Amino acid sequence: MMKYLTLIFAVITTSVTLAHDPSPKDNQKTHKVKVGANEDYRLPNNTVPINYSVWLVPYTEENYFEGKVVIEVTVVAETSTIVLHVNQLEISSVAVTSDLSVPAISTTAYDQDLQFYTFTFATALTLGNYSLDIEYTGQLRNDSVGFYKSYYNTSSGEIKWYVSSFFAPIYARQAFPCFDEPAFKAHFTISIAHWPDQVAISNALDEYVSEPNSTIGNRVWTKFYTTPLMSTYLVAFMVSDFEYVANTGGSFRIWSRPEAVGTASYSLAGELLLDNLSTFIGINYNESFPKMDQVALPTSATTAMENWGLITYRERWLLWQDGVSTTRDKQNIETVGAHEFAHQWFGNLVTPEWWSYVWLSEGFATFFEYYTAAQVNPSWRLMEQFTVDIYHAAMLADSSDDSRPINEDVYSPDEVKSVFDVISYYKGGSIIRMLLNFLGEPVFQKGLQTYQANNSYGTGTPEKLWDALKEANDNLDDSILIGHVDIKTVMDTWTNQKGYPLITVTRNYTTETQTISQERFLLKGRGSSNDTTEYRWWIPLNVASQSSPSFNNTRATAWIRAQDESVFMSSGQTSDWVICNLQQTGFYRVNYDEQNWNLISEYLLTSNFTNISPINRAQLIDDAFNLARAGYLSYNIALSLTRYLRQETDHVPWTAAFNAFAHLDRMLARSTVYANFQSYIFSRVSPIHNSLGYTVQDGDEHVTSFLRANSHSWACRMGCPGCNSQSQQLVQDFYNSGGNTSIAVDLRAWAYCEGLRIADANVWNFMWERYLETNVAGEQALILSGLGCSLDENILLRYLTFSITENSGLRSHDRLAAFTSVYSNSPSNVDVALQFLFHNIANISLHYGGLNVVGNLLQNLATHLVSESQLVNLETLISEYGDQLGEAASSAQRAIEITKENINWLDTYEGDITQWLENELSSAGNLPTAFGPIILCFMYGILNLAG
Ligand SMILES: [Zn+2]
Repeated sequence: MMKYLTLIFAVITTSVTLAHDPSPKDNQKTHKVKVGANEDYRLPNNTVPINYSVWLVPYTEENYFEGKVVIEVTVVAETSTIVLHVNQLEISSVAVTSDLSVPAISTTAYDQDLQFYTFTFATALTLGNYSLDIEYTGQLRNDSVGFYKSYYNTSSGEIKWYVSSFFAPIYARQAFPCFDEPAFKAHFTISIAHWPDQVAISNALDEYVSEPNSTIGNRVWTKFYTTPLMSTYLVAFMVSDFEYVANTGGSFRIWSRPEAVGTASYSLAGELLLDNLSTFIGINYNESFPKMDQVALPTSATTAMENWGLITYRERWLLWQDGVSTTRDKQNIETVGAHEFAHQWFGNLVTPEWWSYVWLSEGFATFFEYYTAAQVNPSWRLMEQFTVDIYHAAMLADSSDDSRPINEDVYSPDEVKSVFDVISYYKGGSIIRMLLNFLGEPVFQKGLQTYQANNSYGTGTPEKLWDALKEANDNLDDSILIGHVDIKTVMDTWTNQKGYPLITVTRNYTTETQTISQERFLLKGRGSSNDTTEYRWWIPLNVASQSSPSFNNTRATAWIRAQDESVFMSSGQTSDWVICNLQQTGFYRVNYDEQNWNLISEYLLTSNFTNISPINRAQLIDDAFNLARAGYLSYNIALSLTRYLRQETDHVPWTAAFNAFAHLDRMLARSTVYANFQSYIFSRVSPIHNSLGYTVQDGDEHVTSFLRANSHSWACRMGCPGCNSQSQQLVQDFYNSGGNTSIAVDLRAWAYCEGLRIADANVWNFMWERYLETNVAGEQALILSGLGCSLDENILLRYLTFSITENSGLRSHDRLAAFTSVYSNSPSNVDVALQFLFHNIANISLHYGGLNVVGNLLQNLATHLVSESQLVNLETLISEYGDQLGEAASSAQRAIEITKENINWLDTYEGDITQWLENELSSAGNLPTAFGPIILCFMYGILNLAG
């Protein structure tokens, strides 16, 4: 499954820099939910399902469905009970039959907490096969999970209903009684009723469509072929009036609502991704299913869902229209497609034995999301983008004391849902990339092939994975992992411990040696945790130096073992810099002694700076700013490192820099030093902002469109009036022409946001109407994000009110994004959003998905609260409205803590940053600080006219 993961640091350019759009509901927290934890949560192992036959009749108009399931089970251990999962179903009849004698059912019981339905028999069942025949009814849900109904509007305003399913991880039990755990694999034969003018699709191909049947109101039955062995959470079906485009053989189809099917053709190219994965893994996808259906849903709970043979997406991640959709949309379609296709093996063919190992599914899907898409699109630099989009985000999330190990036991429905987080996805993907690099590609591939082949139609565990990789490593001639290093021993330190290491390189410049030590990195700083566990890792090491700047060999040339606090080795020449962790493949941060940092900073200012690879330039920035934020390194060093950015033209290090600046921007927004901060940042950004210009150039690299938009966003944000007037003019012209002038698609995120900041209500309303009218989901998302950039409080309140108003036109899955766009795009809007949240707790909870969403929103908002007055305001609001917060009460307290931490951070670091900026801006050759951006911008304007 592909979820939204919020990356708090990327606040300025949310729709530009992120492969995954933000949503506070899955934010960077990695909390454990222990409420209701119960070790009896697992089904007993005495009965296993073999085959399900399911018949479903959805009554859309009446909001309910009738169902019947016949489950063939085998009783494998003596028992007098059969226990299976049921949720929100009314069971009307139960019959148990068998060739064996069947004792009478003495009682049936339901446990709401565990969602267990238990048949108790008068005597013990003989071991063998039984058939459970259950008839029931249930409500069609309207929240896009379980068995649900939804709708879309046609261009003529007609409402079209459809029904669909979303079962991950624990919602299949809401559509039919079942053994709803991933390891209980079975065959499924689905039949679903619908109107004759509708079409039904499911995991398997349809076997037949019946004639209208009077017992179901003259609906017809579509019956599907029986599936291979699969887990319940991967079962899917849909009834709609959707249409499709297909490949030549008809085995690869893209479905959408009829009016959008013209934008479905681009995704047919996704077949290349599926073929690439078939080849890489050595098991053809079509061995499991003869077809692949992909559906673009107008409303969906998640970005996409990997149901075997029937993948569902939000429209934005499947439909693409030239001239309207962006380069980012195109990339997302490729990467999200690769993610879901990778699941057809990692998750579907080999399923994690239990949710404790979700990373065996989601971590691999995240890795292949980039790896496979990179193979099909080699010029897109996706593995480099992986480091700044996935790996850096994983590190930020995993550096808090309340992070969790990748492997983690889960004992309740809430806990199962909670492990679909940034740790399973991003850290999982990152340590898989580390594994690839220290094993070498041949061993990595062969090991994964063995893991898949050995466990097809069964389950996977970390142990099975390590065994397969060890076998490949032992047997392949080109193994690069040798000697005392054992894969399981190494990887246990990365999967069973939370957090990750910081290694510190301390050089002896006289003896040309260095000591490299390890400790756990904590974002709140050394000593901030009461955890007395001694965290140690097996750490793959490699080093480049100024005389030997070979950044491409990413094998481990040395290891710090878990039993080692530090290692001692030779270093480069005294005058050389050294840089550890080539291409940042190891999941750790690196600190150096001050002299080495200075050597690096000085070298970056030379024309040879590109001898350091783009990923390692990004690493230096990301590490330095996170080390400084946590107190391990002085801000003087981190900020000095950014001087060279005036000559940086690469998207990858710039992304790391923008993320670093975003934190400072948020923290310093109300500080007296903010004007100097703007001057300095703009002085770094202006060369790239100017050189890329506002026009897309022929021959631009794929990632240039991202850098162009980001540099413009930052230039505007840092106060460049030329940039602001440019965006405002673009939007004004767009309005004046009734939407007939064209804004380059890849600049729309920037233009809409910056252009709407001071636009009047007429322009804003015009853009809102565009949101309602456009047929393209990507364009909708860009407008949605831009609408929150307005600085007019009345407009913002109106927009926020739309998000809690039924029939306002905002799609349900856009409500949260609308709220987020308000507080994340401008410091002055934070207080408006905060007030609105407290004044509308019940309505936000109702329309956004519950009080837990309110809690997450509060915590995310708090990352923007940096002053004493904001703290007082927050505390006042909590005391005034606290009785409405319910389960969000603890998040409210956490929001207070976050705000206090921000204030403390400012107390600690604001002075150093102020001093550094003053020194920098007043040094020879710099412009007067208060006018820096203005003068540079006007200069640019003049140059522009002259050019
Ligand atoms: Zn996934």
